[in-house]
Amino acid sequence: MSQHVAINIKTQAYHSMLGAHYTLHDCTAGYTHLTDEERAATRVLVTAGFRGATGAEMDELPNLALICCVGTGYEGIDVQAALARGIRVSHGAGVNAGAVADHAMALLLSAVRAIPHQDRLTRSGAWNYTETPRPLVSRKKMGIFGMGGIGAALARRAAAFDIEVSYHSRTPKTDLPYAYVASLRELAEASDYLVACVPGGPSTQHAVNAEVLEALGPKGYFFNVGRGSVVDTAALIAALQSGTIKGAGLDVFETEPDVPAELCALENVVLTPHMAGNAPEVQEMAADLIRENITAFNEGRALVSPVPEMRALTPAI
Ligand code: NDP
Repeated sequence: MSQHVAINIKTQAYHSMLGAHYTLHDCTAGYTHLTDEERAATRVLVTAGFRGATGAEMDELPNLALICCVGTGYEGIDVQAALARGIRVSHGAGVNAGAVADHAMALLLSAVRAIPHQDRLTRSGAWNYTETPRPLVSRKKMGIFGMGGIGAALARRAAAFDIEVSYHSRTPKTDLPYAYVASLRELAEASDYLVACVPGGPSTQHAVNAEVLEALGPKGYFFNVGRGSVVDTAALIAALQSGTIKGAGLDVFETEPDVPAELCALENVVLTPHMAGNAPEVQEMAADLIRENITAFNEGRALVSPVPEMRALTPAI
């Protein structure tokens, strides 16, 4: 009998790739359909940051010992509840950094060059070569908020566009050649493009607020590929409507999957449905990493990609 693994996200690719190796229980609609034997046999739960697992959910599976998150962000998992129950937690550290950085550049190019707008005009036959020349993408300054895996991958791409990078994160990165800026407001002030690549959660909640957007200024663009909660959406909408900033590109939203009608009505913002990290190649890497973590867990070894809270534990569980 193969190992029993529960999965509470719908993404079919993970069901196929993991289902080929384990007895997979589809728990997207809850756990009540599992028999007592299946509940008892299920020691692993696969989830994603937007879905996660509460302590009460963990209690649905009495022998749960490992939660594997497919992506880097794992904000939906109550890690403290897991640790209190002796449950280990892994995440997809770094698997989608390249994809998200690619997508951030796509949003930047689209917004600055107004590609969606120009595409609509061209298709309609409204050929207008002289309509409002769009700014140069290159030879500008990019401020990266969050110099982790995604931030570093984005910085490398920006360098290829002759864009000067500086950044703000909790700690300076001495191994990277970019200038560290001590506050987010100062970073915005020094940037043409401000790109949020930070996790969600209380420490980044509405970090990009009216004051930061004001500092970015009327030629500035804001991009968010981190989490919707990082920006005060009402302040962003007001800044886009009033010309306080020039434009934006957003892949994540505070109220996703609902997107505010005011944002949809604006021409100076490019919107995508939280798809930056979503690519078939990334899904394969994430599924492989989950399998490596499950194997390490089964063999009593340290997890391959534990969440930081677990790495910090001594003694490790
Ligand atoms: P990392 O953990 O590698 O990097 C996170 C960075 O954010 C670090 O530099 C960290 O600082 C910084 N940071 C965290 N909290 C704060 C804070 N309060 N103030 C300032 N800086 C902070 O993560 P990744 O780069 O891999 O991913 C970042 C986030 O992107 C994920 O957590 C997820 O939410 C989001 N994401 C979005 C995807 C999408 O499809 N749009 C896909 C994948 C991820 P320090 O280094 O000093 O600790």
